[in-house]
Amino acid sequence: MNNNDIEYCECKNSSAVYSQNDDFMWWDRCCDCNKVIEDSITYFNQSDEDY
Ligand SMILES: [Zn+2]
Repeated sequence: MNNNDIEYCECKNSSAVYSQNDDFMWWDRCCDCNKVIEDSITYFNQSDEDY
């Protein structure tokens, strides 16, 4: 997911959300507008290992 392209949900009371994820993070998306819930974006634990 490219952060520059995210449109965040602005619904005051979304009726429902659903979760999505990719290799690096997961986030919730609003079922009303299909936009990302800004506060929901969670990056997976970043280890100290170098890849
Ligand atoms: Zn919304």
